Amino acid sequence: MSKPQIKALSADELRQALVEMGEKPFRAGPILKWLHTPVVSFDEMTDQSKALRARLAERFELTVPGLVRRQQSKVDGTVKYLWQMREGDLVESVLMRYEHGNTVCVSTQVGCRMGCKFCASGLLGLRRNLSAGEILDQVLFAQKDCGQKIHNIVLMGTGEPLDNYENVLKFLHLVSSPGGIHIGQRHISLSTSGLADKIEKLAAENLQITLSVSLHAPDNDSRNRIMPVNRSFPIERLMQACRYYFDTTGRRISYEYAMAHGVSDRPWQAERLAALLRGRPGHVNLIPLNRVKESPLQPSSREAARRFQQILEKNGVTVTVRRRLGPDIDAACGQLRRRTLEEGDRK
Ligand code: SAH
Ligand code: SF4
Repeated sequence: MSKPQIKALSADELRQALVEMGEKPFRAGPILKWLHTPVVSFDEMTDQSKALRARLAERFELTVPGLVRRQQSKVDGTVKYLWQMREGDLVESVLMRYEHGNTVCVSTQVGCRMGCKFCASGLLGLRRNLSAGEILDQVLFAQKDCGQKIHNIVLMGTGEPLDNYENVLKFLHLVSSPGGIHIGQRHISLSTSGLADKIEKLAAENLQITLSVSLHAPDNDSRNRIMPVNRSFPIERLMQACRYYFDTTGRRISYEYAMAHGVSDRPWQAERLAALLRGRPGHVNLIPLNRVKESPLQPSSREAARRFQQILEKNGVTVTVRRRLGPDIDAACGQLRRRTLEEGDRK
């Protein structure tokens, strides 16, 4: 039987576990501090007794992701990591350097079961959920690798965060708790493909994170074609959940929109999108679609993208166009893992 992962414990659970071991609960503080650094062995916790370190090692698993691949962009310094978690599960994270600080994009699942047609992460379905500790590990080990502080986290790697709700929630509390790495919730964004029921659940958690909703199409016909989740939660239902999220948390929502040639970039769709967002505090993030080999979807032409943006702006929608980081390394998240798995198959 596998041992519980110590990094997946909340501060309270760690205290509880120490008490059960006959230890003093106050030891949880310094141990948690260690667990939010990239330690690879309990023996590194030198301010704890040798005996306690040995007992912890006996009782708990200390997860350590193995670095399988690392690619760095020569253009902008973006670094893409491929980690090996337990049982050979491959997971990607990306380190981006913005003016407002270093940002890590983390994965929340090994694979994804949402099946979006433009996405490399979902091609092989879902293998398993990552634990809160394994999501945290991606931040800790990216920070170790770059030797600089991480300021922001985006949950936009492989996986649907709200399909791994409990672990992701735990991660959000862990990573923002003052006793650990302490990245404030206002520096964290969570992106979802639109699980309306979970968005409403999340609204009630009283978090200060930013919610990003991957909209990608303003009408049900087009969205059904590219995002199967839309059949469970059509646009009206999703927008209702977004309204509830804003009303409950007071946090503005950001809507992700990847323009696909002939599918989601037509002028009437820009008008429809503007109408959908009228009276809603939030903004649209237009993304150039990354081509994925297995998908027939193509990115919009420069002209179509510009026209789309102009229509939104004319209608008073706040629009940002996301810069493409790391254009010379496998750009879309999920592609590096996919390629490595393919190479593995050929061997
Ligand atoms: N599962 C969550 C978060 C991970 S995906 C979600 O879907 O929101 C992170 C973002 O990348 C999402 O907005 C997703 O729609 C987008 N994305 C996935 N594949 C893409 C591609 N080929 N080109 C552009 N954006 C893509
Ligand atoms: Fe999953 Fe997000 Fe990719 Fe859709 S876009 S398959 S939800 S990771």
